[in-house]
Amino acid sequence: MKPILIAGGGLSGLSLGIALREQGVPVDIYEAATFPRHRVCGEFISGVSEETLELLGIHEFLEDAESLVSTAWYDQRSQIFSAPLPRAARGISRYRLDHRLANHFKKMGGEFREGERLSLEGLNQEGVVHATGRAVEKGSGWLGLKAHWLDFELEADLEMHLGDAGYVGLSRVEDGRVNVAGLFQRRREVKAKGSEALLAYTKACGLGELESRMREGSLDPRSCVGVSSFGFGLKDRPDSEGFRIGDQRAIIPPFTGNGMSMALQSAGLALPRLLDFASGLATWKESAGVYESESGKYFNQRLRAARWMHPFIFSSFGQQVVGGLARNHLLPFSLLYRALR
Ligand SMILES: Cc1cc2nc3c(=O)[nH]c(=O)nc-3n(C[C@H](O)[C@H](O)[C@H](O)COP(=O)(O)OP(=O)(O)OC[C@H]3O[C@@H](n4cnc5c(N)ncnc54)[C@H](O)[C@@H]3O)c2cc1C
Repeated sequence: MKPILIAGGGLSGLSLGIALREQGVPVDIYEAATFPRHRVCGEFISGVSEETLELLGIHEFLEDAESLVSTAWYDQRSQIFSAPLPRAARGISRYRLDHRLANHFKKMGGEFREGERLSLEGLNQEGVVHATGRAVEKGSGWLGLKAHWLDFELEADLEMHLGDAGYVGLSRVEDGRVNVAGLFQRRREVKAKGSEALLAYTKACGLGELESRMREGSLDPRSCVGVSSFGFGLKDRPDSEGFRIGDQRAIIPPFTGNGMSMALQSAGLALPRLLDFASGLATWKESAGVYESESGKYFNQRLRAARWMHPFIFSSFGQQVVGGLARNHLLPFSLLYRALR
């Protein structure tokens, strides 16, 4: 078996590494950060099948995840919609999940180079998989903020609050914690930092009632993290012929709750093609070409759907339409949910 080197030990890189080790492939993962650590993420896993989790060999690490079965949506005034989720989602912190996967990868004989960033020159070589997550897009204006609340009553397993140029999702993770994650357009007038930033942005986008609820609870200050300068959609890289998985290939907006599922699914799609390469059945270029075309078929429809829905729910006109449809029980929620998976 030829060795595989994975740049990036996030969800996609670690799950692919585990699956390759399971098949006896020598794997090194370079991960720029150290574990365990909190990540900016809604930690709401929706859309990935049991088969994919089993194919990757990571099913057991999600077995104790919270089962999330209901959702409620709000605009700046009130609740507009509530329903059971068409399929149960999973709630587990990235702090716990990524750490578990990293430990398992090491236990399986994988070389985990924690705290080592692979230089960009090293990334475009045969046998190197790009799983480096969100690429930097300076000036995009997007800001992602997240923190865990230790005592917080939810009205549904997933609360989604639509604000002015921002939205906030809340859902349960382990140990009674509630994860609060928001996506916002940057505002010059908001100067708050650290844990105050999430509260200040929630209020600034017109979600004052939610902000008051958050202020009544207590947050874990160590769980406050933020990220900026990223974009959404398919990330074209005409200069690269290799395997790009997870957010490195395409980023679906967080309101879909599907980014982590896509990361896992892309690892699942890459696996057989990398095994072809590692066992000498196909060249790197052939394997990467097949992977890329399979990924296009698998992901393009949901990326297209998200591309038109996201600006819509971000605009006040779109929110009025969604609110009006929802209040009149006309929102085709199941249809939209399916289109994004
Ligand atoms: C605000 C927000 C909320 C979200 N909410 C949800 C949600 O509720 N549900 C959901 O499914 N998805 C959500 N997502 C998306 C989800 O977090 C991502 O889709 C997922 O983490 C992608 O996994 P990945 O493995 O591709 O990248 P990541 O998990 O980001 O991992 C990439 C890793 O690569 C490392 N790295 C980068 N460059 C290098 C290098 N040169 N060398 C070595 N290592 C490197 C990084 O340190 C990182 O650990 C959300 C995203 C945001 C911004």
